[in-house]
Amino acid sequence: MKAVCWYGIRDVRVLDVPEPRILNPRDAIVEVTSTTICGSDLHIYDGYVPTMRQGDILGHEFMGRAVEVGSGVSNLRVGDRVVVPFTISCGECFYCQRGMWSLCDNSNPNAWMAEKVFGYTPAGLYGYSHLMGGYAGGQAEYVRVPFADIGPLRIPDGLSDEQVLLISDVLATGYMAAEACDIQPGDTVAVWGCGPVGQMAIRSATHLGAARVIAIDAVPERLEMARQHGGAETINYAERRNVVEALKEMTAGRGPDACIDAVGMEALGRTVDALYDRIKQAVRLETGRPHALREAIQACRKGGTISIAGVYVGLIDKVPMGAAFNKGLTLKMGQTHVQKYMRPLLDLVRGGEIDPSYLFTHTMGLDEAPQAYAMFAAREAGMMKVMLKPEMGAVGDGRRARRERAMEQPVEMPISLPETGRGSPAQRESGARVMARPTQWGAEGTEAPPVPSQAEGTRATIEEDLCEKGLSTPEECAELPAEETPEQLVTGRHLPSQAEGERETVEETLRAREERDAAETERLAAERRLPSQAEGTRETVEEDLCEKGLAPPEECEELPAEGDDRTTLAPHPPSQAEGERETVEEDLRRLDEGAGMEPPPPVVGEADATPPEGEAEFPSVEESVRERVRRVQEEAEEPRDTLDEGLDEEETR
Ligand SMILES: [Zn+2]
Ligand SMILES: [Zn+2]
Repeated sequence: MKAVCWYGIRDVRVLDVPEPRILNPRDAIVEVTSTTICGSDLHIYDGYVPTMRQGDILGHEFMGRAVEVGSGVSNLRVGDRVVVPFTISCGECFYCQRGMWSLCDNSNPNAWMAEKVFGYTPAGLYGYSHLMGGYAGGQAEYVRVPFADIGPLRIPDGLSDEQVLLISDVLATGYMAAEACDIQPGDTVAVWGCGPVGQMAIRSATHLGAARVIAIDAVPERLEMARQHGGAETINYAERRNVVEALKEMTAGRGPDACIDAVGMEALGRTVDALYDRIKQAVRLETGRPHALREAIQACRKGGTISIAGVYVGLIDKVPMGAAFNKGLTLKMGQTHVQKYMRPLLDLVRGGEIDPSYLFTHTMGLDEAPQAYAMFAAREAGMMKVMLKPEMGAVGDGRRARRERAMEQPVEMPISLPETGRGSPAQRESGARVMARPTQWGAEGTEAPPVPSQAEGTRATIEEDLCEKGLSTPEECAELPAEETPEQLVTGRHLPSQAEGERETVEETLRAREERDAAETERLAAERRLPSQAEGTRETVEEDLCEKGLAPPEECEELPAEGDDRTTLAPHPPSQAEGERETVEEDLRRLDEGAGMEPPPPVVGEADATPPEGEAEFPSVEESVRERVRRVQEEAEEPRDTLDEGLDEEETR
């Protein structure tokens, strides 16, 4: 089949790649009728997303027809027309059960990578790096859809692809961003970024009752669309650089009630090149230029809400946390819980209340994806959203017949080595291609052309997986239990990665642990009854036990005798609740003199605040305050760089 593959920064190619197959009972294969490039794909295109590998299939907004359905999928039939959410979710874990679909515990086969970076893994995503599962994306003729009994939304007849495709991502994302603002009647919502997500956030904010929406961008066509379809007022930051001031003026000095960052980590086109050079050299996770976020925090009214829809992956710098804290802002963010919004949004589209089809300004064949990416990345005049159609152009001819032929051939599916290298150095050096399940995929060691890695995983636990592929040391493999038993799970061993959802619930684990702890406490209590100690001699428990004759003599001998250095430590400086307000230095010196010790050395870096040696004179409270005020005034008179200038300066360093 044809698919759009990532090969490097600003390098995508349309290539022939192996077709996906059903790997699990809950899988389905969807023949893509329409797909599109999302603004967040540009972060990959521009090289901001770590753990991408050459050949990865891109795309996470797509829809089509089910052409194969696994035995575990009972609610989908071959031929059903579906929109597929970009978040892959199991529907059964703690998070899915609570509607936090993008935080699913069970859908990222590379959970261990994400756990290293984020502490815990979020859900797997289509076509969005190996950190997010390494799943093949939807800019292809066919896609494997895991958990197909949960994700795909069946689309009734009479609605065009243009109307419903964006439910898979940008409509849901914009809607969730607006919903997070908790809009009250009369509220003003400011939206940074008038790309597709921004447009949907603007439209949704209006739908949710915002009295005013203010859109911020520098592309006139985008601002025009925000005015026309979203009823927004606009700020063009190319003309009006001080966005925060502009917003204050427009809101009588109070600021917007809520601010949506629909830009994300690649904020501000005008300096993208400088950043992109830096990123190329950077270690994996130095990312992000949160200009929009900084402005949003600065501009938001006190007690307001910042809602972040733009994607962030790594670290960001110079976020005005003090402003956010002292103004009592609420910050909300996250990948979209798409499954939660799909049906309600479909109803809104059906009812004509929201029609996102105005976003589609271009329709092209899937084979034209490289041009489409270039145009979209350049924010080329008038391109808001491009519909890519596999059946258009050269790609689509007779693809069904080709698919049927292809399915009879054995498929070679090389899996790339993991980046952080659990494999032996020799294995990594040789760059050996590892065949997943050789019996299934082809002969071991076959040198294949670089074709996409597709996370077509075996879904064993990650540890098992690595051992199977020869990527772990023998000792590590020996440690693996043959079968996970509940007992092993509660002893603190790393939990298995759960593509199949085999992880016990956290509750089960906790309950087992509690029971074990209770039994242990009971056993200890039976062995030796500890004295109650409410009488408070404040000695250590060990001393207490010795004194009361409750400990064996050997244990008591080990205890330090009185006068041990614990009691000769420097006395704690006096507490100063009496408000004499002497300097700490003075206080310490008096203490030391009393103990017959040397006075303390002057404090480094505070020379002017330390009194000259030998003098007993110290500035009075009034004097020190006056001195401090004078210094602050002096500093205030010095010319200061603006935040922006400060940043530019930093870049040149
Ligand atoms: Zn997206
Ligand atoms: Zn889940």
